[in-house]
Amino acid sequence: MSDFQPKQYLLVHYGEIGLKGANRSRFIDALRQNILQKLSGLDVRPDRKRSGRLVFRLGPSVRWEEVARRLRSVFGVAYFSRAWSVPLKMEALEEAVLAHLPRKSGISFAVRTRRANKQFPLTSMDIDRRLGAAIRQATDWHVDLTHPDLTVEVEVVFQEMFFYFDRVTGARGMPVGTSGTVVNLLSGGIDSPVAAWYMLKRGCRVVNVHFHGAPLTSRASEVKAIELARILTGWGGSPTLYSIPIGQIQAEIMRTSPPDYRVVLYRRLMVRVAQEIARREGAAALSTGESLAQVASQTLRNLRAIEQVAELPILRPLIGMDKEEIVARAEQIETLAISNLSGEDCCTLFIPKHPVTGAKLERIAEIEARQPWNEWVDKALSGATVIDVHASPVDILQHYPELLERLA
Ligand code: ATP
Ligand code: MG
Repeated sequence: MSDFQPKQYLLVHYGEIGLKGANRSRFIDALRQNILQKLSGLDVRPDRKRSGRLVFRLGPSVRWEEVARRLRSVFGVAYFSRAWSVPLKMEALEEAVLAHLPRKSGISFAVRTRRANKQFPLTSMDIDRRLGAAIRQATDWHVDLTHPDLTVEVEVVFQEMFFYFDRVTGARGMPVGTSGTVVNLLSGGIDSPVAAWYMLKRGCRVVNVHFHGAPLTSRASEVKAIELARILTGWGGSPTLYSIPIGQIQAEIMRTSPPDYRVVLYRRLMVRVAQEIARREGAAALSTGESLAQVASQTLRNLRAIEQVAELPILRPLIGMDKEEIVARAEQIETLAISNLSGEDCCTLFIPKHPVTGAKLERIAEIEARQPWNEWVDKALSGATVIDVHASPVDILQHYPELLERLA
């Protein structure tokens, strides 16, 4: 045995972005940046470019479990692994693989080689066979090509070969930031954080906007929204949350509108205001957690009535999902526990027993003609607080002088 110590790498494969023609390098650069940001503070450095994969050098002190834990929430990653590299020599590969094999007995295995470097004299199949034979000789393992307990993967690239034993499935999707910006309407509920997650998954930068009923309700939903937005930053969400009190405007709407139209009008208020935030943030669309027919306000006719005030597209990634599917996703992305906490939602303010399910545009036009909408939108915007969800609770409290006074 030589005393050659193979270097340790993180190998990242990106599925879908491989297909994106001219945009390819922009996508890859964004993915590399997002990965480095996610792994910051760990001893991980970007390495040379290799064909079709991103390679990072892992320092000796790095805990692989921590790298894997963090990487699982980076969109654009198809799968990744901890790999070792050896020079382009079959003997070097055999020796290093044998030295790194997990110490297990009686298991089945398979070798799978991919060769980006077609100049290497051995074919993928040659390598599979030779390495397989060497492993059989050194262990009591047997070959099983269909359901192996362990897969030894080899990738032959231009200056070296990589090998690894376990692939970790990534979050897939597209790198956050490569699809433009959306403003997501984030309530304290279950659906809208899941909607934000799906927009992140498709590569959007997602800025959240929350409306609350202060001063007519407590700020409980706002605390939930801050925490939800903070959890979403773990998936690449923006740390900026716009928090907007609309209680007084809701009271005005209540005073001047028929009860059955209130919910639709509250929603039209939110869309109008969110659209102004979108302008500031350079966003190209809004997104919501609406799912068709889930509640009375989410009928096709009502969605149409809400959408009428939108100049930007309103994206609704949950539109075809059942509540159970949404709940399961919320659990997986770790927003469910927060969403399930009780917290007054501003939309429950002054809600009649029978809200309209087939809102009529003419009726809305009639009602709104008598209402000062420009003034209301300006008023809502002027009350907006821009919160950095990573700030300490004490710093976040600085936005609420009246609360601080009460606490003092
Ligand atoms: P969620 O669980 O997201 O609150 P929901 O099923 O309770 O959804 P609604 O309350 O009718 O549905 O809200 C529909 C969508 O409108 C939400 O998914 C969200 O995108 C937006 N929305 C509702 N209330 C608010 C709010 N207070 N602030 C920001 N957006 C809101
Ligand atoms: Mg809700």
